[in-house]
Amino acid sequence: MLELRPNCECCNRDLAPDSADAWICSFECTFCEHCAHTRLHGTCPNCGGELVRRPSRPPDALVRHPASARRVYKPEGCPS
Ligand SMILES: [Zn+2]
Ligand SMILES: [Zn+2]
Repeated sequence: MLELRPNCECCNRDLAPDSADAWICSFECTFCEHCAHTRLHGTCPNCGGELVRRPSRPPDALVRHPASARRVYKPEGCPS
């Protein structure tokens, strides 16, 4: 199951599980739209993979399968 992480790895901005601003790679590295495009140019800094918009999880599914609360913040990997 997709891990819906609560923040951007680059700028630590909060990303709600239904946010349209969240972008992920195939390993679920998670970034906000600004970082994904302006800083990373669509490529994950950890694995080199493509970043795509994260699908939102419907509210009823979130009740059964809550979003992750584990924050991942690795600004050293992100170009400023
Ligand atoms: Zn960000
Ligand atoms: Zn990645």
